[in-house]
Amino acid sequence: MVLLLVGAMVVVMGLVVFWVEPLGVLGVLERLTPNIVYRVRTELPLVALSFDDGPHPAFTPQVLEILKQHEAKATFFLIGERALRYPEVVARIRAEGHEIGNHYLRNGATLGHSNEEFMGNLEKTERAIGAGEKLELFRPPGGVAWARQIRLARERGYTCVLGCAYPHDPMHPPVWYIRWLIEKNLAPGTIVILHDGIANAKRSVAALPQILAAGRKKGLRFVSIGELRRRSGGQGE
Ligand SMILES: [Zn+2]
Repeated sequence: MVLLLVGAMVVVMGLVVFWVEPLGVLGVLERLTPNIVYRVRTELPLVALSFDDGPHPAFTPQVLEILKQHEAKATFFLIGERALRYPEVVARIRAEGHEIGNHYLRNGATLGHSNEEFMGNLEKTERAIGAGEKLELFRPPGGVAWARQIRLARERGYTCVLGCAYPHDPMHPPVWYIRWLIEKNLAPGTIVILHDGIANAKRSVAALPQILAAGRKKGLRFVSIGELRRRSGGQGE
């Protein structure tokens, strides 16, 4: 009985952490995985927005429009194969002053990949994204990678970034939940994760204007992850 109760509590706590993402547990994560950036420690009134899995021919332009209306900048973690398919969307992201990060060649975990395959896929994605600029940020697909892969990405000059306000939008939760989770976690240095590149990103797009308005009400400005890190002196992550 006691065991059952403990088991149930662990499950409940796991669910709470998964769906509520209290910022308080972040310190534990940061200690357990010091090579991954979840937020940037800063007192500046800045937060970073990031969008994953694009470029998408319909949703990415919608996101870009909303960002422009709100004078916000973001980081787009692009998938190499999709960047090859929609180069005009990649060019527009860049032309509008946003940052581009490496989100690997294909959607799907890196876990079955050897070191050679992993490096090959990172490089192919760099070429697919093009424009010759050096990419600074890597976000592993699905948010998971082996420690050896994180090490290889770092050796190639990447900073590996997840975030601390992620509403699991690929699971299509209601718009109110997406807004609630992100708005609750908006604080200086927060990194928001949303998806513009999933098959149906309607809810993520629908939640965005209010998230941007809520941040502004808190006195926060939305910038790319790179700018957030640079302005904060790139330390204390
Ligand atoms: Zn992804």
